[in-house]
Amino acid sequence: MKQLLGAHTSISGGVSTAIDRAEKLGFTAIQIFTKNNNRWFAKPLDKNEISLFKEKQRDSNIRFIVSHDSYLINLCAKDKTILEKSRKAFIDELERCEALGIPYLNFHPGSHGGQGEKEGLKIIAESINIAHAKTKNFKVSSMIELTAGQGTALGYKFEHIAEILENVEEKNRMSVCIDTAHIFAAGYDLRSSKVYKKTMNEFDEIIGLDKLHCFHMNDSKKELGSRVDRHEHIGKGFIGLDGFRNIMNDKRLIKIPKILETPKGKEQLEDLENLKILRSLIK
Ligand SMILES: [Zn+2]
Ligand SMILES: [Zn+2]
Repeated sequence: MKQLLGAHTSISGGVSTAIDRAEKLGFTAIQIFTKNNNRWFAKPLDKNEISLFKEKQRDSNIRFIVSHDSYLINLCAKDKTILEKSRKAFIDELERCEALGIPYLNFHPGSHGGQGEKEGLKIIAESINIAHAKTKNFKVSSMIELTAGQGTALGYKFEHIAEILENVEEKNRMSVCIDTAHIFAAGYDLRSSKVYKKTMNEFDEIIGLDKLHCFHMNDSKKELGSRVDRHEHIGKGFIGLDGFRNIMNDKRLIKIPKILETPKGKEQLEDLENLKILRSLIK
């Protein structure tokens, strides 16, 4: 079976243009923003743009699409105004995904800003419950991304994700994304087959592999356990080719889409190079 591979792709010129770009580059999986990711809100998606997006995807080889939410959203913000705004914006993101038929909304859990980890995790689950209640029967899955744990960011331990999932009411609406650079910076090693197995077994025990629906494939500019989030080209960072070889050849992960979030220019030619490297690692 061919693995679903691709990269975060620009929507400059409208969401449907991402499909054109991805097709041209031969991707079978993509991640997009459904609006400017540095803004809280955007005008609603145009009806024509929505049908164009769906039509183009249907006629394409793209089998997996995930949307990444706005970088401003913090589902456990200490400031109540920001928390309210984040919850509204998160619901808006879910609505945009649902309108476009995108099955996953990827998001970072949030930063507790001094409230403490326990309290932060509780507020995140509350935020998700509120969002789900306001989007009854939506098909889009809320996909939590593991983080590097910069500052007071939560989600750098598998236990954090497990605790959030535990407190979310509609568990069937939840999924998880592993960002390789993030978990490596958080202290989970992937490099030798021994430590790789240990990391993935821990993930399975604490979160469950059935919850894992996506990989962000990024090498790390920073060392193991640095808690600093800096993405590097595949094989050029501290994870190195061995770590990615472990993932690409893990039988349990063949069906999980793998998406690059590595540095790139407008033409995304770097993505082609990184994907070529990932494919070359398959034994
Ligand atoms: Zn992310
Ligand atoms: Zn990521």
